[in-house]
Amino acid sequence: MNLPELFGENVFSEKVQKERLPKEVYKALRDTVESGKRLDTSIASAVAAAMKDWAVSKGATHYTHWFQPLTGLAAEKHDSFIEPDGDGVIMHLTGKSLIVGEPDASSFPSGGSRATYMARGYTAWDPTSPAFVKDGTLYIPTIFVSYTGETLDKKAPLLRSMNAVDRQAKRILKLFGIDCKKVSTTVGPEQEYFLIPEEEYLKRKDLRLCGRTLFGAPLARGQELEDHYFGAIKKKVGDFMRDLDEELWRCGILSKTKHNEVAPAQHEMAPVFTTSNVAVDGNMLTMEIMKSVAKKHGLVCLLHEKPFEGINGSGKHNNWSMSTDTGLNLLNPGDSPETNTLFKLVLAAVVKSVDDYQGILRASVASAGNDHRLGANEAPPAIISIYLGDQIGALVDCIVKGKNYVAQSSPQGSIGIPESPIFPKDATDRNRTSPFAFTGNKFEFRMLGSQANVADANIGLNTIIADAFMSFADELEGKKDIEKAANAIIARELKEHYRIIFNEDGYGPGWEGEAAKRGLLNNKTTADAIPVLYEDKNVEVFVKQGVYSRAEAVARADIRLENYTKIINIEALTMIEMAKRDVIPAVSDFIATLCQNLASKQAVMDGLPCGAEKELITKLSGLNDRTCAAVGKLECDLNKIDKNDVRNASQSMAHVIIPDMREIRNAVDEMEKLTSSDYWPYPTYFDILYGVN
Ligand code: ADP
Ligand code: MG
Repeated sequence: MNLPELFGENVFSEKVQKERLPKEVYKALRDTVESGKRLDTSIASAVAAAMKDWAVSKGATHYTHWFQPLTGLAAEKHDSFIEPDGDGVIMHLTGKSLIVGEPDASSFPSGGSRATYMARGYTAWDPTSPAFVKDGTLYIPTIFVSYTGETLDKKAPLLRSMNAVDRQAKRILKLFGIDCKKVSTTVGPEQEYFLIPEEEYLKRKDLRLCGRTLFGAPLARGQELEDHYFGAIKKKVGDFMRDLDEELWRCGILSKTKHNEVAPAQHEMAPVFTTSNVAVDGNMLTMEIMKSVAKKHGLVCLLHEKPFEGINGSGKHNNWSMSTDTGLNLLNPGDSPETNTLFKLVLAAVVKSVDDYQGILRASVASAGNDHRLGANEAPPAIISIYLGDQIGALVDCIVKGKNYVAQSSPQGSIGIPESPIFPKDATDRNRTSPFAFTGNKFEFRMLGSQANVADANIGLNTIIADAFMSFADELEGKKDIEKAANAIIARELKEHYRIIFNEDGYGPGWEGEAAKRGLLNNKTTADAIPVLYEDKNVEVFVKQGVYSRAEAVARADIRLENYTKIINIEALTMIEMAKRDVIPAVSDFIATLCQNLASKQAVMDGLPCGAEKELITKLSGLNDRTCAAVGKLECDLNKIDKNDVRNASQSMAHVIIPDMREIRNAVDEMEKLTSSDYWPYPTYFDILYGVN
């Protein structure tokens, strides 16, 4: 394999554009991509023609506008290139078809906003994210908006939030005498996933309908030996990973790192970071490709945040920073951060905005699936806090306490291992328990769920940082001594928002209490996390930065709650079906067998020991009754919920239905441990998690 040649083979990349487009068309397109210049329609026709020719040369027969509606998934509708020509057909893509599409929008969630505008939704080409060919189709990345320009997707607000950062960051940079054309936000999302045998997957209704197991007794051997993390990769998994990399590379995705994760059957892929919207598209595509490649290997890739209870779930670490087109990373502290006023100001903006808008960030990662991780003892807690590491932490402490910062002499040469004379020591130690950690020249937002569209978190991050930049720029512009004024802002803001900084163990037992004392938010469920998005302050920041209108902000919060309610409802119904139709009858059959065995033993000989049968019959009969009663309660509670009232419905789901489901699961998992494996209706955790060799 010639990797440099293979890489991006299926992408209408800058290189291909340069080769295939007339010079002036190429230049106009690059101007649009690099500085957001409007694209002329005549140019679009030329681009469309070249794009079509290129796609056809790659075997494409169809094209699709590829967009990200509020379902959280990517959507596509394929049209072929054919146009009648005499007796036959020609392959054709018009400029108009490249620029706009009109999918039937009426079936996508819009939180009521679309009803007002008669369901007309348009997709519009996003030339900043490259088109690509996959499975015989040309994919054209697009945004999805209503007739009146209201956004109906996750991409358009992401682009708006990136523009907000660009606008406000340039004002700050200008004050420091730095000129640049553009400031881009960058993202590198690390993706965790599970791989399980398809054969076992197909036998479990819960995995098929909900993406996670609703039942399952704990494994005898989970992750306690810690032998899976970074462990040797099994052949079948290795084959999958190799194919996955190849597919991703062909699609221009910079897949870089792969390894086994903490839980059995859990793995991770990390790409090299890129501009936020390209990274978001890349991650959506990565998730799809993971699923399809797994299928080719007789495997299923599970992206749910918590497919199995009792072992780690999957998340996504969102590495985030901002860079100028001239290559300056705004979060790079440089060699002497204490004198790097621009860095300190950017840091103060991050600290301020994360503290002021904890609620937005928490809500941005809230989902039914992620509720199983956040706050449970494996992922960062549901509390937002910032970890700065030793060096920057010490610097901030000095600023806040008004002390002089003395740079710690950076450790010379070696980490202290004589065998390794050249191993440099990192300036910051690792903290794996912080939800928002500074890692050298970027922040790592670790609360995202594995199946999330990372757009949500980045829309939030970009918007709030743009707002902090805006307030700093408003204050600084016109000041004579920028250094002095900036340092005053830095000290003031770091002092004011110091409570959000927490450099210790986020999983520790003391943190929740300490965080409560500091007045930090701790919204444990989606039903509790999302409603903060209705608060004036949180709506306003989106409106002020031009990311959402008031109506859009409210509609999106409604959709999130509605989606949460629907997911829990599906899980509850699936659980009822599995319990009633599979588990209860299976256990009853097993009890009947035990009874027959008991009766025949007693018939053969008086006084034969029958303790095992009697004990099992008694225990299982009790548990089966308990399951039956718990299912009855769940059905009854579900019926009481008015699903049209999403705000109340989501509360009931979180605080009534989920506890009901817990009770069913406890009883069923207990029965699984007592029931003969010949009778148990589903593959167990052992079958599923140790099924790949
Ligand atoms: P770590 O050791 O902290 O995991 P890596 O350098 O391995 O750091 O990076 C982890 C992820 O962070 C990768 O996806 C990487 O591309 C991404 N990353 C690195 N620098 C940046 C940046 N400036 N902006 C966004 N993401 C970045
Ligand atoms: Mg990481």
